[in-house]
Amino acid sequence: MELTITKNATCTFCGCVCDDIELHSDTERIVETKRACILGESWFRNHTAERLYPDALIDGEPATVDEAVEEAAEYLYNAHMPLVYGLSNVTCETQREAVALAEMIGGVVDSHTSL
Ligand code: SF4
Repeated sequence: MELTITKNATCTFCGCVCDDIELHSDTERIVETKRACILGESWFRNHTAERLYPDALIDGEPATVDEAVEEAAEYLYNAHMPLVYGLSNVTCETQREAVALAEMIGGVVDSHTSL
């Protein structure tokens, strides 16, 4: 099988944002990384194009995205102190939306770095 080679890929795992990574991939997964550290290599190799899960889960059961959004909105609406948590490995646009959501629902924002 012929591999696709992507040069100068950016790793966003730890925050160093190494941007000189070379990736070799087949149609579903990255099979080789060059110049990534062991954390970056693990991150790239474990993100695949395979569909491992349904689009959404509610209480562990498959659901549509619309059903999951409705359920999440209900949880957030009824929460006394909603926490928007995580936000590592996401884009700046996603972080911006998360902060806007926290403001809208009167919540707080925290990242995994507080651990
Ligand atoms: S390759 Fe390693 S050091 Fe560079 S951003 Fe990824 S995890 Fe961080």
